[in-house]
Amino acid sequence: RQSRGSRNLNWKFVAPINPEPLVSLMERDQPPSASSPTGDPWLLTPGPLTTSPTVKQAMLHDYGSRDRHFVQVNERIRKRLVDLVGGRPNHVCIPLQGSGTFVVEAMLVSFVPRNGKILLLINGAYGQRMARICEYHNRSFEIDEYPENQPVDAAALDQRLENDSAITHVGVVYCETTSGIQNPVQELSVITRRHGRGFLIDAMSAFGALPLEAQETNFDAVVASSNKCLEGSPGIGFCITPRNVIEHARGSSDTLVLDLYDQWQAMEANGQWRFTPPTHAILALSQALDELDAEGGIAGRSQRYRQNCDLLIRGMREMGFQTLLPDAVQASIIVTFHMPADPNFYFDRFYDALRHEGYVIYPGKLTVADSFRIGCIGRIDIEQINGVLTAVRTTLDKMGVNNCGPG
Ligand SMILES: *Cc1c(COP(=O)(O)O)cnc(C)c1O
Repeated sequence: RQSRGSRNLNWKFVAPINPEPLVSLMERDQPPSASSPTGDPWLLTPGPLTTSPTVKQAMLHDYGSRDRHFVQVNERIRKRLVDLVGGRPNHVCIPLQGSGTFVVEAMLVSFVPRNGKILLLINGAYGQRMARICEYHNRSFEIDEYPENQPVDAAALDQRLENDSAITHVGVVYCETTSGIQNPVQELSVITRRHGRGFLIDAMSAFGALPLEAQETNFDAVVASSNKCLEGSPGIGFCITPRNVIEHARGSSDTLVLDLYDQWQAMEANGQWRFTPPTHAILALSQALDELDAEGGIAGRSQRYRQNCDLLIRGMREMGFQTLLPDAVQASIIVTFHMPADPNFYFDRFYDALRHEGYVIYPGKLTVADSFRIGCIGRIDIEQINGVLTAVRTTLDKMGVNNCGPG
């Protein structure tokens, strides 16, 4: 009998691009030099992120989905998420199984009516993804597209809404994680409201760290997930929406599993999820929200991320790296750096070496420039940022890279 491995027809040899990897294959299997309390490398990525040991520990329980205690945990999480945007008593929180994109898709199909039309303000891959979702569901949409290093423009939105009365909704990404840029959601919401249209926000990488107050930013829906700035485990998306908006969303969705109205109705009725809930992820999120409170809420957390971000940018610039964004539009979530032009710089060697030192960074996702990203979020602080800066310095030395500028 053959073993599974040898029958795996998908296996093929991929020739290494670089003649000498900095980290040998044997070394690659060793534990990283620096590591989180559970021995894993630090994740300096846009998510999933490094979580605290106590958040991981919270998952060491099995709950039945109808268990009374579990129902109470859910109820409490929903209230606390609404409280984070100061949304009570008018807003509700509707959680949904899945990664962040599931709840973005759920928002679009549940709130943009089948005969509606959404204007998408796009300056990166996550805005593009919203357009793709609309195509799948045959929702009419228009796009207003900007370069990845520019925030979307509020004055242009005003004009566009003035000229097109068929637009029922406006959709935007708060922090466009593609580059790390922050879009002016509050200003956009005021304009959208003045024109009487609905405003939908993908706040996936912003929620819990960037300011968002329901009293100041008028939104029809905001979506985010458990595993970014809330520092929980992956598995849960959620939508925060005014009660009178979700009340009118009946029959809009063309999919059952992503129907936020249906999910909301079920939860209001008995506090239970319609389909198997991600029980462990919910327990982790509950603990993560306790830890957010203990850190001083959004204000405390954003301060730690800001320190991480400032230190990272300063340290990388000292080595000669250039950021894609000017500081004025850089959110303290994730930073995009131009790829060095030095002929000795190879990104995959750089990545492997940093991973070996205990720091996982992230490739770029830009269309305009060759780049890579380093995240500032998750259960990390300046100790880890100093650690990655040292690892970058050592790696550049080993590679023989002298010029870190983009050429
Ligand atoms: C992470 C992210 C998402 C969702 O990504 P998933 O991989 O589906 O979790 C959506 N929008 C933005 C802005 C994000 O940063």
